[in-house]
Amino acid sequence: MRCFVFSHGTKYITGDARTYLKKLEEKSMLEVWKEKAPRQSEFFVKFPTQFNNISREIWKWSIEKGEEHAWLYFIFGSCQYLPTQNRVNKHREHASQYCLLCQSGVVENMEHLWVCPALAKEQMRLQLRINGILQGLPFALDKVRPIELNHRDDWLLLATKDPLCDRIPDDRLDALTRDFWNANKHKQFIPPQSFSKAVGKVLRKTYPQALSRNLLSMLIDLFCLNVEGKSNALQHYSRFEVWCSEDPDDKDFGALGSFLESDLSGKNTLAFPEFPDIEKAIRKAEEIINSPAPSRVIMFLPLNMEHKFLVIADLSECSIFQNQGPPSDISLVLAVNKESLVLDPIDGA
Ligand SMILES: [Zn+2]
Repeated sequence: MRCFVFSHGTKYITGDARTYLKKLEEKSMLEVWKEKAPRQSEFFVKFPTQFNNISREIWKWSIEKGEEHAWLYFIFGSCQYLPTQNRVNKHREHASQYCLLCQSGVVENMEHLWVCPALAKEQMRLQLRINGILQGLPFALDKVRPIELNHRDDWLLLATKDPLCDRIPDDRLDALTRDFWNANKHKQFIPPQSFSKAVGKVLRKTYPQALSRNLLSMLIDLFCLNVEGKSNALQHYSRFEVWCSEDPDDKDFGALGSFLESDLSGKNTLAFPEFPDIEKAIRKAEEIINSPAPSRVIMFLPLNMEHKFLVIADLSECSIFQNQGPPSDISLVLAVNKESLVLDPIDGA
């Protein structure tokens, strides 16, 4: 009889050498996978244990039920390799990657599947199932204060030490904490002083008069607007989903960026360009409505300005500002493409 000992690196191997070799093989294959296909291995890298557990279960279920497609679907889904428009049409022009289900002019990729309005029913069902499971866990019914509220309270407390804060109403300051949270919540760490610094910068600036809220509300309802093309951290109107600002500091509070530089195809934008950017803004509006995604731009333009859009109203007799400022010689102009008119007809009345 002969005795021998297996060793590998600095380790002595006990038990069945084949099991150890199998593990080594698995480890090296995973390294290759992570390196060569970072996108496909993203879920695995984030949740290695759950990934292994669930893949074993799904393998078992699909064999028991004889449904090999379920297994394939799992592989493609977990590797973010489902045939979305983005993946299938990756090398074609941008517009051919838009979601066909909701027609909202957004690229259909794996992230979009979780928020696509056309899949709301399925998302709701998933959410209810998950809530059901979470409620079964110990302490699930104990109310935990959301981390968002803790952060926002702390920020508010720090920010009010700045005497300039007295200049703005409390509800606006609260809205600023909400905007700041939404713009920064994806970060792993938000320094406690960062909000006060950002607000300090905003409060030291001067802003033009804000547009009348009643007028904005009416335009939103009439033209289904969702982007405020020119605003700032202190004045943007909450009924718009998104807002643009020329000031890069406003990105701290969720501004999309400048109207002239943002991609606004597939959106319904209200723009109020001012000298010397008016001509650039007109060209930008043309570019937006030339996109194949349903898009429209409502603009306030000087009466004598040359353009190819539809004039909706002459506003030279009325004030468009919040504090009933002086009337301005401007007209309300609509730039729209036919895709937008088909999807969302404008009420002529
Ligand atoms: Zn969609």
